[in-house]
Amino acid sequence: MKTLPFVLSAMLAASAIGAAQTLDLAKYQIVDLSHSYGASTLYWPTSTSKFALNREASGRTPGGFFYAANSLSTPEHGGTHLDAPHHFSESGRTTDQLPLEQLVAAAVVIDASAQAAKDRDYRLTRDDVLQFEKQHGPLARGTIVLLRNGWSRHWPNAKAYLGDDTPGDASKLSFPSYGVEAARLLVEERGVAALGIDTASIDYGRSTDFQVHRVAAAANVPGFENLTNLDRLPPRGAVVIALPMKIEGGSGGPLRAVALVPR
Ligand SMILES: [Zn+2]
Repeated sequence: MKTLPFVLSAMLAASAIGAAQTLDLAKYQIVDLSHSYGASTLYWPTSTSKFALNREASGRTPGGFFYAANSLSTPEHGGTHLDAPHHFSESGRTTDQLPLEQLVAAAVVIDASAQAAKDRDYRLTRDDVLQFEKQHGPLARGTIVLLRNGWSRHWPNAKAYLGDDTPGDASKLSFPSYGVEAARLLVEERGVAALGIDTASIDYGRSTDFQVHRVAAAANVPGFENLTNLDRLPPRGAVVIALPMKIEGGSGGPLRAVALVPR
C-alpha cells in the first residue's frame, strides 16, 4: 500500500477534528480531466494562432544515443485551459498569482447533461444550483464547481462542439454553459474557488457580453474550460488538482487537471 503524507485543505475542511490527515492514494482513482494538445486541439474561431510543436531535435547523436527535444507555442485560451481572473478584469489575478487553494480543492459536479441534450444553448439556472444543494447538501466556501454538459463526446469536432466551424467567425457559436444568475449565486453567495466546465467557455456560446466571465473575474475566481471525463466523477467527494502552466502575467494558460475520486 502506497501511503503518502499529503495534506489537503479540502480534506481538512471535511474533517470535524481539523487535524492533519494522511492521504492514502490507494483509496482513490486518479481521473484525467484534460484533453491532450495537438493538431486537432480546438481554439476560439477568432484565435490567430494554434498549438504548435516544433521539433528541435530527434534522432541518434554522435554519442550513439537517442535524443529528442521540441519547442512549443500556443494561445493561452484553447484546449483544456485556465481563465485567470485577469482575462476579464484589469486588476484581477494573473495566472501566476492564483492561490493554490483555488486550484486544489474539493469539487462538486453539477450535471446539466439532460438539459443540454435538449437545448444546446442551455444556461444553468439559479434553481438548478439550489436543486443540487437540496439533493447533495450545501456548497462549502472554497469548493471547485464543475458543470457537466456531456459535451466532451463532441471533442474535437469543431462544428459539433462549438456549434459552428467558420474560421474567424465567433458570431454563430452554440453550446451550453453557466447562466449569470447561477454564477452570481456560486461566486458571490457561496464563495466557490473556481468554475469548471466541459464546454469551451464559462459563458454559453451565444454570449456576446461574457457576463459569467465578468462576475467570476471581479471576485478573482478562475475558470477551467474544455475539461473532459466529468462523467467519471461523483456529484460530491472528488478532489480536483488543476495546475496551469505558471505564466508570469498570464491571462490564462494550458491546464493539466486531474481528480482524485474515492474508490
Ligand atoms: Zn478561456
